[in-house]
Amino acid sequence: MEPLDRSTIWPYHDARPGEVYYARYAHPTGLAAESALGKLEGGEALLFPSGMGATTALVLGALEQGQTIALAEGAYYGTSVLFRALERWGVRFVEFDQTGAPPEGADVVWLEAPSNPFLTMPDLEAAVASPARVVVDSTASTPVYLRPLEAGADFVLHSATKFLGGHHDVLLGAVACRSSEDAKRLRDFRGVSGIVAAPDPCWLLLRSLKTLRARMERHTASATEIADRLRAHPAVETVRYPGFGGLLSFDVADAEAAQKVETSLRTIENATSLGGVSSVLESRGKWEGDRVPPGLLRLSVGLEDVDELWLDLAQALS
Ligand code: PLP
Repeated sequence: MEPLDRSTIWPYHDARPGEVYYARYAHPTGLAAESALGKLEGGEALLFPSGMGATTALVLGALEQGQTIALAEGAYYGTSVLFRALERWGVRFVEFDQTGAPPEGADVVWLEAPSNPFLTMPDLEAAVASPARVVVDSTASTPVYLRPLEAGADFVLHSATKFLGGHHDVLLGAVACRSSEDAKRLRDFRGVSGIVAAPDPCWLLLRSLKTLRARMERHTASATEIADRLRAHPAVETVRYPGFGGLLSFDVADAEAAQKVETSLRTIENATSLGGVSSVLESRGKWEGDRVPPGLLRLSVGLEDVDELWLDLAQALS
């Protein structure tokens, strides 16, 4: 394994700074993890202390004052909450149906592939055909299933806390850039703003990327099976699953029925987040209110035995 280097300073060479000299600008463990992720995405990757840290840095470091972001409707709730908080700094945002073309006049189109928790896939072709810069939050796809930079997107964003980290033990965000000018601008902004990932989470990411493909294939196999079984269950109304990855959502009758499922689980953890080796389920209404159906349950299918997971779900739904 690459070593974990927790130093914050490195000596100058002949009184001049080398590639690493002060950890806020760069550190060896971060550079190694960024190089590994950059290869997977086909671009230049930069790491941040969380997915929201990555989003904040991208908006403040890559946008101009007064610009409009067209955000995918039903994308991760926290993204719209942040954009609203940034409105007083001159950021404007509108929501649109990402399965079609983005609205005219947008400076940035912010897609989510697939959206969390509605699991819609964006029309990436229509977005890159527009004059706007295109960001794809690819958290739930990972580069195993989607490489948006190859399709013409300018930036790929990840909550690396999810599938990239993969073990519910690391909070981390990432942006991969198609152009090195964008990467330089964002790196410079990161250095001065201090929105920097520490070495320990970067090292955990390096470890996790080695198993990413194997984990994603297993997440997909199990989630496909669980989605099929949920579709056939009489207590389940709608199942949303894009056909790959470990994230799905389904609806039961109402908020009360959803809470009953949450409190009846034995193997699957009733917790937030997604993308880890262990399965988690939660009703999203408790966070998102009437933006989601009251009986919507989000399930992140982990790597446990699929029959064991189904037994747990079936008993919780009965
Ligand atoms: N993007 C998506 C699609 C997410 O699901 C999340 C978190 O749930 C984020 C971004 C924010 O990431 P973090 O929690 O690492 O800040």
